[in-house]
Amino acid sequence: MTRYLRLLSYLKPYRLLVFFAFICGAFFALFTSAHAWLMQPLLDDLFIQKDRGMLMLVPLAIIVIALLKGLAAYGQNYLWQRIGLEIVSDIRERLYSHLIRLSAQSHAQYKTGVLMSYVLNDVGQLQIAVAVVFKQLVSQPLTLVALTGIMFYQNAKLAFLAIFAIPLFILPLSKISLRLRKIAGLGQEKIGATSAHLQETLHGIRAVKTFGQEPFESARFREKNRAYLHEILRASKIGEIAPPLMETMSATGVALIIGYAGFQVMNGALTTGQFFSFLTATILMYAPIKTLAAANNTLQQSLAAAERIFAILDEKNETEKDSGTLVLGVASGELRLEHVSFSYQNADAPALSDINLTVNAGSTIALVGHSGAGKSTLANLLPRFFEPTYGSILLDGIALNKIKLESLRRQIGIVSQEVILFDETIAWNIGYGKKDASMEEITRAAEAAYAHLFISKMQNGYQTRIEKGGGNLSGGERQRLAIARALLKNAPILILDEATSALDSESEFFVQKALSNLMHQRTTIVIAHRLSTILNADCIVVLDQGRIVEMGRHFELIQKEGPYQKIYKMQWGPADGNTLRAAMQ
Ligand code: ADP
Repeated sequence: MTRYLRLLSYLKPYRLLVFFAFICGAFFALFTSAHAWLMQPLLDDLFIQKDRGMLMLVPLAIIVIALLKGLAAYGQNYLWQRIGLEIVSDIRERLYSHLIRLSAQSHAQYKTGVLMSYVLNDVGQLQIAVAVVFKQLVSQPLTLVALTGIMFYQNAKLAFLAIFAIPLFILPLSKISLRLRKIAGLGQEKIGATSAHLQETLHGIRAVKTFGQEPFESARFREKNRAYLHEILRASKIGEIAPPLMETMSATGVALIIGYAGFQVMNGALTTGQFFSFLTATILMYAPIKTLAAANNTLQQSLAAAERIFAILDEKNETEKDSGTLVLGVASGELRLEHVSFSYQNADAPALSDINLTVNAGSTIALVGHSGAGKSTLANLLPRFFEPTYGSILLDGIALNKIKLESLRRQIGIVSQEVILFDETIAWNIGYGKKDASMEEITRAAEAAYAHLFISKMQNGYQTRIEKGGGNLSGGERQRLAIARALLKNAPILILDEATSALDSESEFFVQKALSNLMHQRTTIVIAHRLSTILNADCIVVLDQGRIVEMGRHFELIQKEGPYQKIYKMQWGPADGNTLRAAMQ
């Protein structure tokens, strides 16, 4: 019931349209029942009394009523369609806005494909609910009321008899709809799983191909798709019981009425015209009741979708959860981590334990450690993608959770290993973090990122469209675009996740130059893979199993036979003085 009401609450902005749709529905009901009423003069006056005046009037009335009924039907159909589409667009936009504001923690719990299925499939289900169901729920009961009016007008006693029979149809239907709703929920879950699989495998198509797993994935897809089919079929099996059941029951009702009413006609209590008018009204009632039953089935399925959408909408998003209120100007960029620990949900061991670290404003910290040591986790705590389980992080002496998220993230630029580029122009992609950037600013950022030259050489320069994910760019070019983007954002803190894959030496040279421009006078936390980065870092922080095991500059740490030396030898091997000097330049 609350779901109904909540769904109805979305109608509010469209009150006026609903009002007009309702008026059209009322006229539709009126004209439908007018047809039933016409049966009486048709038979009594035209056929039995042979009234010549009626010969013109009745056929004319039939045409006029049909025309008006058609107009009313058009009006209400169009209006409900429109209301449905508008509401669904609203919900889809609201859901999308909500989804992208959910915390990284929430996103880690959902599969992308499942979320996509919410926005596309579940919302689509709702559209049917609103456009079809609301219309039927309004217009059909109105028609029923009008037809009942005709029945009472023609013969009250008979009408009472017919009305008492109606609940007999309704009761079994409510049982069926309950079952249906459950099954519909399962069906939507299954389509969600199918969609998740689709998304994962298409996204990871290269992995699928490299490992030659196409047949395996096809089989897995089939399995999920079949599970969906199974649920849909189950729903169909149960849902389709309703119409024939109703048909049989109403036929029985009509038969009984014919028997009883025929008896009354013979006794002279009812004219033939009244009898047929009554019968027509009874028969015409069948269609709205049948439609209502079908609408109820659709509604149950849609309510299952609504339930899932509302559950997501009710989940608090980052901005709602944000306890921070402080809005910073430009931070100087000193970071302090005090006894910071972090555990992922459902993880056995903490990913970070008791991290104490001060990063002076403008200095560069290189995070070094084996895979899984906790480097990315540490970096992810700074923009508050995740909140520390214990301890606190301070920016310029202010606890991060006191700072408004939006304001905090404005202080941080991120250049990640995997450069995310959108299917838009180069200029658009560089200006992504600063929508009001002028072309001149964009060009300046590109120049400082050593990207201007290759961009200028492209056919449409800055207006060249980036193909899906940056397919028309090399790895080094993509990275330089990401650097230009971060330069334009001009945040005092920089998080840098260096690419693990090596670039050719020319690209590497330009990327390094671009990076040193970017890092200039910024507090930089870098997940380091390049030798030059660790050599130039003001401090190297060696992580192992979530703990800091060593800290210091390269030349201090390399002397000790500690964890750093081991990692260094493993990743960069024994370096002679020349290579080191080259790397530092
Ligand atoms: P690194 O960046 O040094 O390779 P991470 O910070 O990614 O290490 O991971 C640290 C630890 O946290 C690892 O043990 C990893 O398995 C675990 N971990 C990382 N991400 C998640 C996650 N989303 N859920 C659960 N555990 C995770």
